[in-house]
Amino acid sequence: MRDWLTRLPKAELHIHLEGALEPELLFALAQRNGIRLPWADIESLRQAYNYQNLQEFLDLYYLGAQVLRTEQDFYDLTWAYLRKCAEQGVTHTEPFFDPQTHTDRGVPFEVVLAGIQAALADARRQLGISSGLILSFLRHLPEAAAMATLEQALPYRDAFVAVGLDSSEAGFPPRLFERVFARARAEGLPAVAHAGEEGPPAYIWEALELLQVKRIDHGVRAWEDERLIAHLVDNQMPLTVCPLSNVRLKVFSHMGEHTVLDMLDRGLNVSINSDDPAYFGGYVLENFLALQAHLPLTPDQARKLADNSLAAALAPRG
Ligand SMILES: [Zn+2]
Repeated sequence: MRDWLTRLPKAELHIHLEGALEPELLFALAQRNGIRLPWADIESLRQAYNYQNLQEFLDLYYLGAQVLRTEQDFYDLTWAYLRKCAEQGVTHTEPFFDPQTHTDRGVPFEVVLAGIQAALADARRQLGISSGLILSFLRHLPEAAAMATLEQALPYRDAFVAVGLDSSEAGFPPRLFERVFARARAEGLPAVAHAGEEGPPAYIWEALELLQVKRIDHGVRAWEDERLIAHLVDNQMPLTVCPLSNVRLKVFSHMGEHTVLDMLDRGLNVSINSDDPAYFGGYVLENFLALQAHLPLTPDQARKLADNSLAAALAPRG
């Protein structure tokens, strides 16, 4: 089934480019930019990939992102991810990037965007992978900072297919960003948002009703709210589920307990995504393989999950 799963055409709708920074590239960029790292070698960095929750992962993720400085760095990061897509039958991708992770440490917005865009354009030509970039706001920072980031991005409006909301979820409900998302909507930018990963079902309701999102990122905790499940099924709201991430961050204690196939069978519009593949043990294919290894994933279910990902794309495909 591995070869079949590899060839199965699929889209990835929930991937943070900064989370695709593999330890080898992280060390290479640190050397290129003369940055001292707190880890002696690649192996000790890998050993640090052992998190108890979302925040512990994020602390490491932001530390790692500091090696990204130049346009070439962002190109190399994005290109490495796109090569993986090509190997795994991912024909379309809608990656997130977090400008604030870089602008807050002095890397100009334009440098970040230029490197990413050049790689996405090359992938379109050389690898046949279509894409749409999502401008994502860090929810642990104030609303004013998100608004400033949006204003900074608006001159490049056409570079983005949507805006998103990520980073620490608990204690940072979607309602805090209602005005930013209204402003983005007024500019014609649709929205997606992380909700219901660690946060409660109420955050999913807020993302739907206040941010008017077109997709929910994660959304697995919708499973706790019957009325919400019915609403999501009725509206066929896409949920971008990330199984390996959920297990590594202890949203589920084991892959055998993941509810994604139950959600699929219930009629929810779920897809399979990698979230932060370098940090969670794999890309889209490895996520499918993990489901196959620990849950009774049938070929029909796998095909439906892949078809859902393609159908929920916001950017033009192909
Ligand atoms: Zn995510």
